[in-house]
Amino acid sequence: MSQRSEADAVARTRELLSDRGLRTTAARLAVMHWLGRAKSPATHADIAASLVPLGFDKATVLRNLTDLVEAGLVTRKELGDHVWRFELRDDSHPDGCEHPHFICVDCGSVTCLHKFELPKSSMKSIASVGKITEVLIRGHCQLCQ
Ligand SMILES: [Zn+2]
Ligand SMILES: [Zn+2]
Repeated sequence: MSQRSEADAVARTRELLSDRGLRTTAARLAVMHWLGRAKSPATHADIAASLVPLGFDKATVLRNLTDLVEAGLVTRKELGDHVWRFELRDDSHPDGCEHPHFICVDCGSVTCLHKFELPKSSMKSIASVGKITEVLIRGHCQLCQ
């Protein structure tokens, strides 16, 4: 990343945080930027593994993740394997139902399915049952097949 876009990214994150009434701290910036670069939801252990060497301790990372979840900037999900995973909230789904995820039942890898949408007719039949908060697809990933 160039210095210019790095500075822009910091300014944007600072704005997001202050909109939600959160102070910009080095740890919050680090967590937000880490999640911004992540390609799929990550566990606290994944995030801490990168941030601890930068001088943030595990408890600080977890506390900041929790603050960001409470502020609505980050989502926390449990994808059926009893592990909490975190990712930046995806604003492209204003109805509150975010993009689906594919989880491999063998290796536990998680992939974001940004382009996957349920057909309107399916949404209709689901509406008579309840409101979707999350779509989860399980299977064997390409590496495990
Ligand atoms: Zn797999
Ligand atoms: Zn995702």
